[in-house]
Amino acid sequence: MITEQIIFSEFGPPEDVLRLESADLPAPGFGEALIRTELAPVNPADLNFIEGKYGIRPELPAVAGLEAGAVVEALGPATDGPAPETRVLPPMTQGGAWATRRIVKVEDLVPLPREITAEQAATLRVNPSTAFRLLEDFVTLKPGDWLVQNAANSAVGRHVIQIAKHRGLQTINLVRRADLIEQLKAEGGDVVLLDDDAAKEKVKTESGGGVIKLGLNCVGGESATRLAGLLSQGGTMVTYGAMSRKAIVIPNALLIFKEIKFAGFWLTRWLKQSSHETRRAMFAELAGLAIGGVLKTPIDVVYPASDVAKAVLRASENNRDGKVLLDFRK
Ligand code: NAP
Repeated sequence: MITEQIIFSEFGPPEDVLRLESADLPAPGFGEALIRTELAPVNPADLNFIEGKYGIRPELPAVAGLEAGAVVEALGPATDGPAPETRVLPPMTQGGAWATRRIVKVEDLVPLPREITAEQAATLRVNPSTAFRLLEDFVTLKPGDWLVQNAANSAVGRHVIQIAKHRGLQTINLVRRADLIEQLKAEGGDVVLLDDDAAKEKVKTESGGGVIKLGLNCVGGESATRLAGLLSQGGTMVTYGAMSRKAIVIPNALLIFKEIKFAGFWLTRWLKQSSHETRRAMFAELAGLAIGGVLKTPIDVVYPASDVAKAVLRASENNRDGKVLLDFRK
């Protein structure tokens, strides 16, 4: 069996170091499945991974890709598992997702309901689950409570809006482009503002002075400082992204007088530390939300896997309105 995989032999600019290569795959053994990749997103973490700037540095050469949707093609001998052609979430490991076929352990596969589309399966594991955990794990929120986030038009940010709306939570959303304001309001954002120094006063007016318990920081730098300043007494800011690649500076008064708490979140660690049952329950809930139309991931463009250089260049551009996907189907 042959697989076509996108590999890199040195860390560097993804458009320069990636290449498509064929490799032999053995037949799946006991407890294993052969899976066939359908679509894979190019997430910021993929670019960082290939540049050698992610929390995991693989041994080189490595197959790229931290997320993909796939179907089961065959099970190993005497192996119970999802039937062939079942759509599944493959495990999130040390890369490896950008390949037409892979051998994986059956116990690591999450079978998905029949109604889920290839696009939904490809984009379910990383960003919706991050949004889910950010809303679940740090602050107890009840309907009517407020939270604030920056880069609100990112995939994670949009999923935060969608899940929050579904739970009756209220969101204040900061973006860096004015044309996104009406768009995100139409998608369910309660307050949407430009991420600038005028935001503080506008937040007070537009939220009616509501208590803001949770801040979700995807950007770092000045944006993170501003976000922390919007939180109410005793609020919590969770940093999960660093899109500006700038450090966070926190005024002392926020710690001393406002007792703002700071935390970080990394899905990779959560997936490692959580139980099989907790992960399955979360993915089942997220799949239900995707099928029910609550979770939506806008798609910017789909490239065939052979056009990976174009795909990673597009994914690293600003001002996209959706994910870049790689198509591994022939
Ligand atoms: P995405 O859909 O690709 O969106 C990227 C967002 O970042 C857009 O809102 C973009 O704004 C903004 N942005 C880009 N460069 C920026 C800069 N220099 N300053 C301020 N904003 C900037 O992203 P995603 O897939 O949702 O991921 C968002 C972040 O979350 C990434 O850092 C990713 O690594 C992280 N993440 C972390 C975890 C975790 O476990 N910790 C899990 C998932 C994602 P424009 O549209 O205006 O360009």
